[in-house]
Amino acid sequence: GQCITVCPTGALLIKNDTDEIWKALYDKKKRVVAQIAPAVRVALGEAFGLEPGEAVTGKIVAALHRLGFDEVYDTAFAADLTVMEESKEFAERLSSGGKLPLFTSCCPAWVKHAENRYPELLDNISSCRSPQQMFGSVVKQHYRGSGHERSTFIVSIMPCTAKKYEAKRPEFSNSGEKDVDVVITTQELIMMIKETGLQFSELEPDSFDMPFGMASGAGVIFGVTGGVSEAVLRRLYQHKTALHLKSLSFDDVRGMEGIKETQVDLDGKIIKLAIVNGLENANRLIKSIQNGEVEYDFVEVMACPGGCIGGAGQPLASCALSKEERAKGLYKVDRVSQIKTSEENPSIISLYKNMSEDSHEMLHNK
Ligand code: SF4
Repeated sequence: GQCITVCPTGALLIKNDTDEIWKALYDKKKRVVAQIAPAVRVALGEAFGLEPGEAVTGKIVAALHRLGFDEVYDTAFAADLTVMEESKEFAERLSSGGKLPLFTSCCPAWVKHAENRYPELLDNISSCRSPQQMFGSVVKQHYRGSGHERSTFIVSIMPCTAKKYEAKRPEFSNSGEKDVDVVITTQELIMMIKETGLQFSELEPDSFDMPFGMASGAGVIFGVTGGVSEAVLRRLYQHKTALHLKSLSFDDVRGMEGIKETQVDLDGKIIKLAIVNGLENANRLIKSIQNGEVEYDFVEVMACPGGCIGGAGQPLASCALSKEERAKGLYKVDRVSQIKTSEENPSIISLYKNMSEDSHEMLHNK
């Protein structure tokens, strides 16, 4: 049947930001860097006759290289970084009696909704920047300073227009320079590919560039509802035997239901989690938390049905069935990835090794 995705941010007029990118691509003084969000790779192929849920990551990287991007990286790498920081924050709050539940902060439509409607909850929202913004600040910092003649221009390819608004927030600029210069949606990238006449389905896959192109399976499942919680739990568990990790494919955190809840035994401590997608569901859950009917330690909120795979900037065929396929596509990428947890990602390990003491600001808002 025909299904139309409802835009949760109200940004119904999708502004086309591709002109700015073409300009940057022709500017020899700019290093143009792309980051691709996890959800994009399991949806973009649909516009070129490929199966819903088929991960076309390598083809997207190849297309971006052909369009003239100097480097193409994976936002899932930055999602690993978010997992590291957010699980640290969560563990600290658990042990020090800090404000709980901890709400996730990676969906800008949810953060904005909370700012408008639940100012009393703002201290409960994680201080972590979203993966898109961590990527921007880390990569800009990497190329800042001597030895790099070109300026860095960062383009994000994201499943929604809320990410455009997020990149423009004043806290995500450094001395007047934005950490992420332009955000385009999956749909806008489809348009760019079509404009150039590239035969997308025929492209030979390329791999991501390094050093920001390597991600764990945990970083990739960020694109589906429940993924952030699962990634954080994988990080926090001390005993990561194969059997344990298998049971960590917590069936309770997966699935498309609007509100899910589960309890896990985190090395002797029972942790209560809720996972919500859709802002109406978030309102319902917050109401029951505030009425004292339920209590949680960790709450994941994604504004779109199914999480980012169902974002309003994705190809419009996102009816329930194709969303399920997209979710399966991300879990499949996770299943075949050799690195399952964020802290095992070699790029993350080396990033932390080389990070200076004052890096907190690069990764957090508060
Ligand atoms: Fe954007 Fe929707 Fe993902 Fe939120 S859940 S970041 S609005 S695609």
